[in-house]
Amino acid sequence: MKVPMLDIGAQRRRLGSGVDQALTAVLESGAFILGPEVSELEAQLAQRAGVGHAVSCGNGTDAIQLALMALGVGPGDAVFVPTFTFAATAEAVVLVGAEPIFVDVDADTFNIDPDDLVRAAEGYGGDARPRAVVAVDLFGVPADYDALRSIAAEDSWHLVADAAQSFGATAAGRPVGSLADITTTSFFPSKPLGCYGDGGALFTDSAEMNGLLRSLRVHGKGTDKYDNARIGMNSRLDTLQAAVLLEKLRIFDEELTARQRLAEAYNADLAEVVQCPHPSAGVRSAWAQYTIRLRSRDAVASALGACGVQTAVYYPLPLHRAGAYSAFPGSKRELPVADALSGDVLSLPLHPYLTPEQQAAVVRSLGLAMMAT
Ligand SMILES: *Cc1c(COP(=O)(O)O)cnc(C)c1O
Repeated sequence: MKVPMLDIGAQRRRLGSGVDQALTAVLESGAFILGPEVSELEAQLAQRAGVGHAVSCGNGTDAIQLALMALGVGPGDAVFVPTFTFAATAEAVVLVGAEPIFVDVDADTFNIDPDDLVRAAEGYGGDARPRAVVAVDLFGVPADYDALRSIAAEDSWHLVADAAQSFGATAAGRPVGSLADITTTSFFPSKPLGCYGDGGALFTDSAEMNGLLRSLRVHGKGTDKYDNARIGMNSRLDTLQAAVLLEKLRIFDEELTARQRLAEAYNADLAEVVQCPHPSAGVRSAWAQYTIRLRSRDAVASALGACGVQTAVYYPLPLHRAGAYSAFPGSKRELPVADALSGDVLSLPLHPYLTPEQQAAVVRSLGLAMMAT
């Protein structure tokens, strides 16, 4: 039996003709840039995120860059980021001219470790001035924003949430989007809420930030389109993608519930065999990934592949060891948890359209692979 990591085709069949009709309506309206579907989507996103404002943009990487630009982070500044994340988190920091300082992660949640954040700040030997923390909600689990907020407040650092993987998650009943000063997300097709191309959004309660972000995503426009008040970007969400997302939002809660149920089923079957993910009390993950830790990871992954079970390693190299980042002074510390994780994590297929038979095949194949290696 073939078990892929993702099944975008199954979701497409479930959505049916609604998507076709929504796309046709946009094609006929001709409002391809910032059409009415974009404002409607932003209103629905803001409501779901429990904040005053959602600002859509071109992708999740631009969203982080726009957040840092709106906060005035730039040359001479430093930004703390977890080293165990997708490259975009650190890349956005460098793109605004600032310097990343890499922080280790927690061995259970895989998210930025607040204690190591304090150590990173104390031990930083570079010349830049720390201005912000970009936490990441890895694999769908919100970072520890309560702890991060009190550390950030002491030094007046801004707190940004990179929620590219966690839109739809909650912590203590509060939705992702409302947990940090500014939250960013991505609608890349493989994210929990994905479109049919690139897309992203930002969330904030601040009317001032909302205005700045709307200016920055259109070349820093002032009140008049050709009066450029600041340097911005060209980063808008296509109306066609907004129309797709509006259709997908209709089934998003059911999809999140399906992901939760599948994760619980994996946990029940695999708890004795490997180290399973257990979100902390009060946290409801968006289950962007179901990631286990195990010895002989590479051998097990290839044995699973031979049985038709696709898996993925997120991430095989912590960013402080990646060529593009290794020269920054903020990459020079020992970050042992991330080093260990990059050697033993494995993400298994988990998406809302995984069938019970497919899930059983994953569990069976994993058991066999573990015995053989
Ligand atoms: C996917 C991802 C991004 C970037 O999103 P894009 O839409 O692909 O630009 C940023 N951060 C994290 C943690 C991600 O997983």
